[in-house]
Order: sequence, then structure tokens, then C-alpha cells
Amino acid sequence: MPTLHIVQGGIDNGDKKWLEKAARNNLSSPSWIVPKSVGIGDIVVIYVADYGFFATAKIKTLAKPRVDWKNRYGAGLNFIKLIEPAISIGTIRRHISKLKWAIYPRSITTPTPEIASQILKLISERRKTRLPDLDDEALGTANIDELRKVALLSARPSATEKERTVIYRVRSKAIHLYVLNRANGHCESCNAVAPFRKADGRPYLEPHHTTRLADDGPDHPAKVIGLCPNCHRRAHFAEDAAVFNRSLKRKVARLER
Ligand SMILES: [Zn+2]
Repeated sequence: MPTLHIVQGGIDNGDKKWLEKAARNNLSSPSWIVPKSVGIGDIVVIYVADYGFFATAKIKTLAKPRVDWKNRYGAGLNFIKLIEPAISIGTIRRHISKLKWAIYPRSITTPTPEIASQILKLISERRKTRLPDLDDEALGTANIDELRKVALLSARPSATEKERTVIYRVRSKAIHLYVLNRANGHCESCNAVAPFRKADGRPYLEPHHTTRLADDGPDHPAKVIGLCPNCHRRAHFAEDAAVFNRSLKRKVARLER
């Protein structure tokens, strides 16, 4: 089996966008930061902070010192393929408890063959199901792509009543978490910073339904907006509540376009 290495990709430096493009257009990277020891044909798993395991690739050329970065080595990558949705760090920690790297995932590493095979299994499962775990603990640590995927889940036409109830419940929870994630600590109406942090450290905002739901219909990310408590009260109790709600509908539609 080829050796597996975990490497890093950034968001602000453009890596994430580039990986998406590379996967679409079958591009290779001339020099990605990798462990010095890589061999041609080795597998790399690219970790992007806030998303998790984001893509896989193969080593195309041996590692050479990077002139722009002391003590770092770069190697060519090809066969870049996204993992959709990316596997959140919470899921990685739960499924691969022996992977010490996951406690503080800021470095590059070459896990043992035993752990490497667990990583490959987790990735191939994800590629097959295209779904994260659906339990509350998993949703609580899911990344925004995983949450969106769950938020848009639909029951198979043949689903039983019980399956429908489960899907309805996880969807509602995922939409709630997705909206708070999308809001990213700011009211999606007035842009104010969340008034405080909750016990779990997350900024406090309230999901608000801009459209009254039919009893059987689950929510949709484009119909729920993350509000500060003032805007939320306004949406329900202000004399201009109807007008305000219409403006919220337009805002959230723009956010989800
Ligand atoms: Zn607000």
C-alpha cells in the first residue's frame, strides 16, 4: 500500500479555492508542502481548517526544499479529488481516536499504516454516502458543508413514517446549526456582533423562520436567517414586522444564491 500523508491547505491563502478548481479541471500542483520523505505515488490527504479532510491527491514528484520557506519541502501533486462534503475534525477525532494529530491539527504528518487504513476507510465511506454521521454529537461538530448536506436531505419516497420523523428531526437541527455557522457571529440582518458567547463558546444568535411552514414541510436554509435578539424580537413584535420580514426574506435569499 502506498504511504499516506496528511498535509495542510488554507482558505485565506487561496488553497481551498484552488483545490476546487484543480479537482474540476484535473490540474496538478507544482509544489505543495509535504513531509520530506514522500515517495512518488503516495497518497496525501489535504486538511483545510474549519472544513476538515477536504481533498485527496497523489505525489507526482519527490520533495525538494522550498526556496521561499525555510525547512519546508514541496512536492508535485496530481489526481486531486475533493471529499464532498469535507470530513469535519470532530468526525475525524471520533472515528480515528488513535490519530494524535487530530488533537491539534496544524501540522503535516505521516500516520502509521494502521491509522492510514482507517483514514482511507473513512474517506471512502464519505465518498460513497456523501453524508456525515447524523447523531447529535456529530452534527454539533459538523462543518458548514456537512450541515448544508444534511439540511437538504430528503426522505426516499419509500421511507417509513419512522424514517421520515428521524430525517425531519436531523434536518431541523442541521438547518439551525447551519444558519448559525453561516451567520458566523454576526446578525444576518443588522450585522451586529452576537451579544455574548454561549457556554460552548459559540456566539449567541437566534434562527428565525422567514416563512411560516406548512406543518409537514421541513425548513430550508434559504428560509431561515440568523438574527441578534433585537432583530428577532422586531421580526415578531414590531409595528413594521411584516415589512421587516419581507426584507429578511430578500436578505436570506441573497445569502443562499
Ligand atoms: Zn440584528
